[in-house]
Order: sequence, then C-alpha cells, then structure tokens
Amino acid sequence: MSFASRSARGGTGAAEAGAVVSYRLARQRLVDSFTRGRRTTEEICDAQPELRRVAHSFGASLNEPCPICDGDDLVTVSFAFGPGLPKAGRVLSDLKEIRKLRIRGKPSTCYLIEVCRQCWWNHLRESYGVPG
Ligand SMILES: [Zn+2]
Repeated sequence: MSFASRSARGGTGAAEAGAVVSYRLARQRLVDSFTRGRRTTEEICDAQPELRRVAHSFGASLNEPCPICDGDDLVTVSFAFGPGLPKAGRVLSDLKEIRKLRIRGKPSTCYLIEVCRQCWWNHLRESYGVPG
C-alpha cells in the first residue's frame, strides 16, 4: 500500500489537535510479515514518484537502518493536510513551515513518513494535529 492511498483515506484533519498518533505497531507488523516471507519487496517498497522526489530533496536522516534492506539511507519527510492546503499535502521542509501552519488560522494534520532512499520502503511513523 502506498503513502498516497493511505493519506487519501485519513488525510483531512482526523487527528486531534496536538495529539501524536504513533504507527509503530502497524509498522512492526508489516516488517514482521516481510521477515516471515508473507510480503515481498515489490509490495512494500513502493514509494510513489512524488514521495521519492520529496525524500531526495527534503529527507531528514533517521540514523537507523532500513528495516527491509538494512541500508543506511532511511529518512523522514513530513506532509500537512487540511483546508486550504494542496490535495496531495504540503511538504514541510523545515520548522519554519510548521510555524506557518500554526499562524494560518485553519487546523491541519501532519504526517511523518519514513522512506528508504535505497529500496523505497515507506511507512507512516506518526501523525499529529496542528490547531488553526
Ligand atoms: Zn531500504
């Protein structure tokens, strides 16, 4: 499942303002299913072209190995969704972007995605609401 299909389902302010939702357990289940041979890299290393582009330009290094290929190029990227923002989300390239979200007067939901720039594994790590 791609990030795009996940975000299309829950990308419009579902998270409560300020609350951080962790997706660690869902991530671990997916990694486990890969380790046990129930999922292939074709199924889970499926970062879409736009996500790859953003990961190349704005990815912040995670300093932990990729759970799939054990590579050392695992990064995070952040997107914000909400009223008045682009349908595909706004890329949050730095802290200034998050401050801008706070002062625009509309609530938004931010999603932190981990992406491996070697095998293109990608998974949602956490989401949090930004009050408007
Ligand atoms: Zn990888």
